[in-house]
Amino acid sequence: MTYTVPLADIRFVLKALAGLDEVLAQPGFEDFSPDLVDAILDENARFVEGVVAPLNRPGDIHPPTWQDGAVTTSPAHVQAFLAYAAGGWQGLQHPVQWGGQGLPKVVAACANENINAASLAFSLCPLLTDGVIEALLTVGNEHLRQTYVPNLVSGKWTGTMNLTEPQAGSDLALVRTRAVPQQDGPYRGSYRLSGQKIFITYGEHDLAENIIHLVLARTPDAPAGVKGISLFVVPKFLVAEDGSLGPRNDVWCASLEHKLGIHASPTAVLLYGSGKGDVDGEGAVGYLVGEENRGLEYMFIMMNAARYAVGQQGIALSERAYQQALAYARERVQGRAIEGSAGPVTIAHHPDVQRMLLTMRALTEATRAVSYVAAAARDLASHHPDAQTRARNQAFYEFLVPVVKGFSTECAVEVASLGVQVHGGMGFIEETGAAQHYRDARILPIYEGTTAIQANDLIGRKLLRDGGATAQALLEAMGRTAAELDAEAAAAQQADQEADAAAIGLLRDNLRRAMHAQGEALMFMRAQAGGNLRAVFSGSVPFLMLTGVLHGGWQMARAVLACRKMMREGQGGDATFLQAKQATAFFYGAHILPRACALGAAVRAGEIVDIWAARANIT
Ligand SMILES: Cc1cc2nc3c(=O)[nH]c(=O)nc-3n(C[C@H](O)[C@H](O)[C@H](O)COP(=O)(O)OP(=O)(O)OC[C@H]3O[C@@H](n4cnc5c(N)ncnc54)[C@H](O)[C@@H]3O)c2cc1C
Repeated sequence: MTYTVPLADIRFVLKALAGLDEVLAQPGFEDFSPDLVDAILDENARFVEGVVAPLNRPGDIHPPTWQDGAVTTSPAHVQAFLAYAAGGWQGLQHPVQWGGQGLPKVVAACANENINAASLAFSLCPLLTDGVIEALLTVGNEHLRQTYVPNLVSGKWTGTMNLTEPQAGSDLALVRTRAVPQQDGPYRGSYRLSGQKIFITYGEHDLAENIIHLVLARTPDAPAGVKGISLFVVPKFLVAEDGSLGPRNDVWCASLEHKLGIHASPTAVLLYGSGKGDVDGEGAVGYLVGEENRGLEYMFIMMNAARYAVGQQGIALSERAYQQALAYARERVQGRAIEGSAGPVTIAHHPDVQRMLLTMRALTEATRAVSYVAAAARDLASHHPDAQTRARNQAFYEFLVPVVKGFSTECAVEVASLGVQVHGGMGFIEETGAAQHYRDARILPIYEGTTAIQANDLIGRKLLRDGGATAQALLEAMGRTAAELDAEAAAAQQADQEADAAAIGLLRDNLRRAMHAQGEALMFMRAQAGGNLRAVFSGSVPFLMLTGVLHGGWQMARAVLACRKMMREGQGGDATFLQAKQATAFFYGAHILPRACALGAAVRAGEIVDIWAARANIT
């Protein structure tokens, strides 16, 4: 099954909802015009459709292999990665001074979504490399930056994030890997690391000549818990002062995991300091990033970026699963039309298949819109000249990151599951590829912090920290959109567009109901936060999902307003697209937004989970 980049929707969301023009008007983005962005998106589409998308299925069937610590990927995978690096795609969002192209995050987000849709497993390598670049640029000293960043940005080397250990998954306070400072000897000033990391994505491979691991570890006299974790760079090959590669470091791949999905992405068990390599002495040679004992704090800086990127993987996977299901539904002939037909019809005619396809499409488009709007806020937060505007946008972005990650990835599982359902029995058979999307999607709500960890972040750090002020300000903005829908429904009525007027009215009513549900949930959380935290956190995931449903609905409502304005003013060209966009938004308003009320009820019943889990002997 081929993949076609949904350029029309991407461009619409970018321009009409995320405010590309405003982003490009900020200082630092003077070199980019809307036309240049269009050209980049066209080129990106050509690359991912032609080079990366064809890897997806073969990569699932022929995963990388391990032998004696070395990992071999398929020749096609290697070629595609070289082409990715040569095309400058790794540097898209990184600063020009480090060899990148300095594009706004919102534009890079589009390109990253596309490459993920083409092959989730392939894209994990660049995704993690982005995280390492961001960490080094944020907290690394000049020497670390000069040594590693240019080759990471160019795609000559790749990066990994080493957090997880067998006893330390969601709870990184339990990290045990040790880092001992070197007072003398050939590696004076560095640290020697020993320990085991598991589940390390692209921890070993043959795509690039060097792998730069970012590793969480403890120094010998570090305090217990999260306050005693430090961050280190550990290169697979040490790098000499002149930039040439030196001895092989003592970090070894003990094995690769056998996984449910993303087979083409090697997930490595890494041993630090097992006595291999060419660095005499005990432990892998590593270099401190920033200050000792502040590793987790630094990781949190990166995590917003990495979590956002994984959220985008969810949107990408949803788009690919949707395209495949739609193509199948248009071909598969089965059953007569419910209203009667001369012969069997394609399954795309059956109301329930239409419901499934519309659900897939509505969730995909809504999560895309939320994520681009978040990325644009991040661009304004880092480039707008006014400090208050920067702060407001940063708060908005940080509030949305756990929603982009948690909601979009949970939606991806739902969408991929519906994709299997649309295929019927053929969906359960591997040959169609629908099953692969379902298997690949399942990791998304797990890694880079499970959905529960995102929900804890949303409530603990993003909501209760500012007393719900950001959430409240967003509700007010949504209220203004609902008022605009009032006027739009009235205008449609006056123009005798009965069906449109009714659909706009329903979207508006359900948006207001969802806002009310979130408002009540917020009140509940504020009231309980002082004395009954268990009740609050029992409803944390329903609260995250409610927030996602609501923000998706808000963006779909804004999409309707934008489409109608474009049609009225005769701009925007493709009337078929604008009609289809509205239809999807109306479906979201009617079928998806009502979920918010049920989720709100679950949030407010948090205490009940606590009481009945104990009585049901769940603890
Ligand atoms: C394919 C794959 C690739 C990965 N890549 C990397 C990588 O590159 N680098 C890396 O460091 N790690 C990586 N990981 C590890 C991944 O980040 C962890 O698996 C994930 O963070 C969850 O940790 P865990 O598996 O130990 O689950 P646990 O922490 O044991 O969680 C199990 C369950 O308990 C819940 N839970 C745990 N704590 C809480 C809490 N405080 N509140 C509410 N619920 C909670 C979780 O939500 C989950 O449902 C990868 C994992 C996989 C499978």
